[in-house]
Amino acid sequence: MNRSPPKPVLALAASILPQRILRRALASQAAKRERLVILGSGWAGFKLINEVNTKDYDVVVISPRNHFVFTPLLASTAVGTLEYRAITEPVRTYGRGISFHQATCDQIDFEKKEITCRPAFESQDAPFAIAFDKLVLAVGAKSNTFGIPGVAENAFFLKEVDHARKIRARIIECFEQASEPNTTEEQQRNLLHFAVVGGGPTGIEFSAELHDFCVEDLSKLYPQLKNKVRISVYDVAEKILGGFQAELAEYASEKFRREGIQIKTKTFIKEVKKNLMVLKDDTQIPFGALIWATGITSTPLGESLGGVMKEERSNRVITNEYLTILDKNGQALDGIYAIGDCAVIKDKNLPATAQVADQKGRWLTYHLNRQVAGKPTLKPFTYNHIASMVYTGAWSALIDFSSKGNLKGRLAWIFWRSAYLTKSVSVKNKILIPMYWFLSWAFGRDISRF
Ligand SMILES: Cc1cc2nc3c(=O)[nH]c(=O)nc-3n(C[C@H](O)[C@H](O)[C@H](O)COP(=O)(O)OP(=O)(O)OC[C@H]3O[C@@H](n4cnc5c(N)ncnc54)[C@H](O)[C@@H]3O)c2cc1C
Repeated sequence: MNRSPPKPVLALAASILPQRILRRALASQAAKRERLVILGSGWAGFKLINEVNTKDYDVVVISPRNHFVFTPLLASTAVGTLEYRAITEPVRTYGRGISFHQATCDQIDFEKKEITCRPAFESQDAPFAIAFDKLVLAVGAKSNTFGIPGVAENAFFLKEVDHARKIRARIIECFEQASEPNTTEEQQRNLLHFAVVGGGPTGIEFSAELHDFCVEDLSKLYPQLKNKVRISVYDVAEKILGGFQAELAEYASEKFRREGIQIKTKTFIKEVKKNLMVLKDDTQIPFGALIWATGITSTPLGESLGGVMKEERSNRVITNEYLTILDKNGQALDGIYAIGDCAVIKDKNLPATAQVADQKGRWLTYHLNRQVAGKPTLKPFTYNHIASMVYTGAWSALIDFSSKGNLKGRLAWIFWRSAYLTKSVSVKNKILIPMYWFLSWAFGRDISRF
């Protein structure tokens, strides 16, 4: 393992060597550093990008997006409560001393210690290879369509800023189209039916945000349409928010019922066509927009990985408690780690959340920084669950503190907003987020359609 020369030696060298020779010497020093490749700039990868020791590691980050997304507030941007740039952080602003390539990793050769990547640009897609000494897989997961025909083509997902932008544009488009003189009443009702599939936290938060948008802004701007708007939440499960305390799930259901948001549990969707979904019993339900917020599954990269242990249900890679990937025989692949939604720890059932991804990212940063300093990591990763929170609309939320109790209503909403404002990364966003909260409250959400 190579280490930088001590500071006094560098200072002496700088004073006596010509600059050209010094630069060459430093470059060769950099070339000797261990190459740490990080795949992904989400919750898990961003922690490393921010805090890993770039003096002793030659850090290369590969991600098809050049920013981090603060996902807990993504649903707010899909209706204009917040603007997109208030919840993103550019990788290059943070990863000082790292090399960044906006690309997708398509293949990993564990033997050769090399990855193959494809640039994330249509005009330039020639693949390139990068060798690594250590590799961190933090590529997240993708929305699970469960193989239901037509979902990928006709539904909206909500994982990226671009998804939120498209949803917002479609909602406004539905209202504008429904206002056209030639639109029949039946067409209006169909256009203004917003279907949300998935009664987990993402589906519930999005429905709540959309309901706020409709009640607080759209009903005033399109008064003739206000009685034709419908929001429905569909789920195969028996109840929504299955992972939450029963009392909280009941609170959310009751609140939605009072506000006219329909909850259709035990409903199996067989097919999704353009503006129409077909249920198992062949009922056809027209919609203006369908938001698919069900479970997650492995990314194409995760699926392509051979020779490693994977969870059967979700196809995600399995690691040990030191977050090192296990091969088919259960042996740790030295220096190859997986964190965040793309991985599970053997015999541990942790949720796929930002909380887990963030804590794994923090532990791995600490581990890698100690490793390069020649110090061993003694304690394996342990997860410390703080709370699960969901916004339920109209300035209310619910918080599940597990065995420590719960909170719901206005107080929970204040806690929800304060927690996410505190957790947001940059000072810029800590200013922008409350500013947009105030602007959308005082002047309404912007309905310009782009
Ligand atoms: C709308 C929404 C709201 C949420 N709210 C909450 C919440 O309130 N609380 C909570 O705890 N969790 C929440 N979550 C879950 C949380 O966002 C995820 O658990 C978390 O993002 C997982 O982090 P990650 O780094 O594993 O993946 P991600 O954050 O998804 O990041 C994956 C990264 O990998 C990149 N990538 C993908 N494929 C490749 C490849 N082949 N090569 C290189 N890079 C690749 C992606 O571009 C991305 O940068 C929410 C999720 C969503 C979608």
